[in-house]
Formats: sequence, C-alpha cells, structure tokens
Amino acid sequence: MNTKYTEELIATAKAIVANGKGILAADESTGTIGNRFQKINLENTEENRRQYRDLLIHTDGDITKYIGGIILYEETLFQKDDNGTPFAEVLKKKGIQIGIKVDKGTVNIPQTDSETATQGLDGLGERCKKYYEAGARFAKWRAVLKIDVAKHQPSNLSILETAHSLARYAAICQENGLVPIVEPEILSDGSHSIQDTADATERVLAAVFKALSDHKVLLEGALLKPNMVLAGSSGKAADPKEVAYLTVRTLQRTVPPALPGVVFLSGGQTELEATANLNAINQEPNRPWALSFSYGRALQSSIIKTWNGKKENFEAARKVYLHRALCNSLAVLGKYPGEEATALNSESLYVANYKY
Ligand code: 13P
Repeated sequence: MNTKYTEELIATAKAIVANGKGILAADESTGTIGNRFQKINLENTEENRRQYRDLLIHTDGDITKYIGGIILYEETLFQKDDNGTPFAEVLKKKGIQIGIKVDKGTVNIPQTDSETATQGLDGLGERCKKYYEAGARFAKWRAVLKIDVAKHQPSNLSILETAHSLARYAAICQENGLVPIVEPEILSDGSHSIQDTADATERVLAAVFKALSDHKVLLEGALLKPNMVLAGSSGKAADPKEVAYLTVRTLQRTVPPALPGVVFLSGGQTELEATANLNAINQEPNRPWALSFSYGRALQSSIIKTWNGKKENFEAARKVYLHRALCNSLAVLGKYPGEEATALNSESLYVANYKY
C-alpha cells in the first residue's frame, strides 16, 4: 500500500519499538476497567477513570525511555488533565505515541461452539480520521481465538474470519494514517499442551499474514500483537526457555522480517512471568524484528493496587509503573536480571474467557 502517510506510518511503527521500548495497553473498555476498580472497591465513574489514566499519562522521568506508545480507550483520548490540557497533548509533548482501541468487542459466530468475530469495521475509516485529528497515530483491534483440540478449535472458519477482519482493519487504518496493531489473541484457557499452542499459533499467524498480503497492508508500517506460546492455563506453566524457543520458532515460520516489531500481550501471566518470558524470548537466536511488550494486566496490576483509588498514592504508584516498565524494557534487550517475587508482582492475572 502506498498512501500519503507511507513515510509517517513507517516512522511511527519504528519509533514505538525503538531501543527497548514497548507499549502500555491502557485501553480497557468501561466494563473492563470497572472490574479492575472493583478489586480496590472503587466506583467506576468517569472521574475515577480520568484520574487513574492521569496517573499513568503524567508519569515523568525515565518513562519515555521504556514506553514508546500508550493505547487509550476513546473516552481517554478526548479527556483533559486537572489543568485542562488534553491528555493527547501531554503525551505528544513527551514523545509517546498515542494509540486508540478501535474494535467494538466480540460476538459469537453463528453455528460455532462459541468462537467469536470482532465487530467495528462499519464506519471505521471515519473514526480513524477523527482519531488522527485528535493526535492518535496507531490503533489496536483485538481478535480472539480459542484452543480445544477435541473440538478442532480454532476452527478454519474462526481463523478465516480473524485473518480477514484484521486485514480489512489494518488497511483502513493505514489509509487514514494510523499504524495498525494486528492482534490475533489465542486465549490460554484450557488444559492443552504448549505444543498445541505452537501448532494453533502457527496456523493463525500464517493465515493472518496471507490476508495482510492480499489486502496490500504495508508491513513496514504495522505491528503484530500475538500471544506468547504458552501451555494451557489449567496445566503446569512451561519454563521460560521452552516458551521462548517455541514462540520465536513460530514467528520465524510465519512473520516476514519486513515487520518492524512484535509486541506481545500478557494474556493472564503474572507480572513476573510476563517479564521473564519476554527476557528469554530475547535471548533466542534469529530475531529480525523487535520483540517487545504491549501489556495491559502485567503492567497495571500492581500500579492499581498501589494507587488504591487515592490521590495521595499517585507518587508511589508511579514508582511501581516506572519499575515494571524498566524491567520489561530490560527484557526486550535480554538483560532482565530477575526480581524477588512479592505478593504484588506474583498474583495470577488469569481471567477465564477474557474480554477486553
Ligand atoms: P493483557 O496484557 O492484559 O493480556 O492485555 C493486553 C491487551 O491489550 C489485550 O487486547
């Protein structure tokens, strides 16, 4: 694809993952952020959501060395800080790229056993124009697949639907100046083996990159957000070395080197697991792409607990954010030294049949 945005798309995608940087996924829908607030007994009001996002967006210091982009929910993109400055302006000044969640959630595909399609293609071009004007430079769209070996899931239909809708979304974003993050998330729910996840991920990514090619998506101006290759969540977790080997092998088999970066979702891993696995991934040979993070739960869990809904905890929570961002950035460089496990960083963040 060649548009007036080609050079900008390439520069934006590169900048997001440059020098060990990654993405903070802070684009929880109103319902999902409500589930997080419930854990700290905080009411899910627009003002509380604004305050929490202010905590993240106004974190200063070294954060710009570790975080190249933040994904926002539409509400946040148009909100302002306490001084009346739009959040988008604050991020722009820091040089952090602004992302926007553009999908509208999932619905079941008829005649399947609860496999899903993602909605939001109608009117997407118009919305992208509006988001670009407001300062957004990249977008996210989450497709969701499941593994059940006995039921032959993910089905071919679910893979086709995922590949087609992600490619349509990516092309529409690029036409309007937004770098698409292509996210085919295979949930970890189940008792399947890590090899089953490797097989499913390979089938899904092969189909996704074929569709991106068919739709003439500019790979140099896009990012991939996949699951890591993990064992099913009801079994025993594989060790980081095995996760890393199978994850990188799967990418080598399916993802062209033209793509500048792969930013993993955390998918219910604890904060420590998500960082340790990313570090091991970056110690594997033959990685022509930046392999980085786009974590939601594994970056925010201990921030939210430390904040606990109180303004006087902002500084302590920001320290926690800086620390987790630093650890994940070191992991992108394969230089994470490990950390002591605490109640804060070792809590399981798994949610069955996760909705975002
Ligand atoms: P988790 O890192 O919590 O899995 O979420 C990331 C995300 O953006 C899912 O779309």
